[in-house]
Amino acid sequence: MKGKLFEGLRVFSGVVAGLADSYLVTLKHLFRKPITEQYPEYRRPRPERSRARIVLTRDPTGDERCVACYLCSAVCPTDCISIEAAEREDGRRYPAWFRINFARCIYCGLCEEACPTLAIQLTPDFEFSKYHVLDFVYEKKDLLIDNGGKNDAYNYYRHAGVKEGGPKGTHLNEEDPVDVTGNMP
Ligand code: SF4
Ligand code: SF4
Repeated sequence: MKGKLFEGLRVFSGVVAGLADSYLVTLKHLFRKPITEQYPEYRRPRPERSRARIVLTRDPTGDERCVACYLCSAVCPTDCISIEAAEREDGRRYPAWFRINFARCIYCGLCEEACPTLAIQLTPDFEFSKYHVLDFVYEKKDLLIDNGGKNDAYNYYRHAGVKEGGPKGTHLNEEDPVDVTGNMP
């Protein structure tokens, strides 16, 4: 009989302690300043490196940076980038068309990591929801912007890519071509 009484008291005190704890939490939050942000009236500034809508950028001369090397489409885990390469008369490659299906993109950023020319970049712009899924297919005209994005000064073609004219070995800082038959026995 005594044991049962103690057991009842133990359960009762446990219930009271539990209730007191939860009311304490409620009380603590009752007088706190609310932190609700009124979106879309207030848009919290996004970190520069946050990953959302993808753009194609231009170098400082205003030319498009993409050299249609296909690295971004090769690395893309969801296979949502399609490109067709073309070449200008001066040897500079560019994408004749460039398409991204944002309905499949998972914003992993691998395309940006793989790109050797800084052409493809993810921006913090996440507000582009659509009613129709096909509207998520962006063509080059929708992707190409008029500046260099995260690095305005970078110019890939100052380092490599365009034939300068003249035979091999005559360009600035270029070594003479290797004679591949020179090692023949
Ligand atoms: S962010 Fe990822 S999923 Fe989206 S296009 Fe780039 S590589 Fe593909
Ligand atoms: S965006 Fe970059 S990685 Fe993709 S094809 Fe163009 S240059 Fe190559």
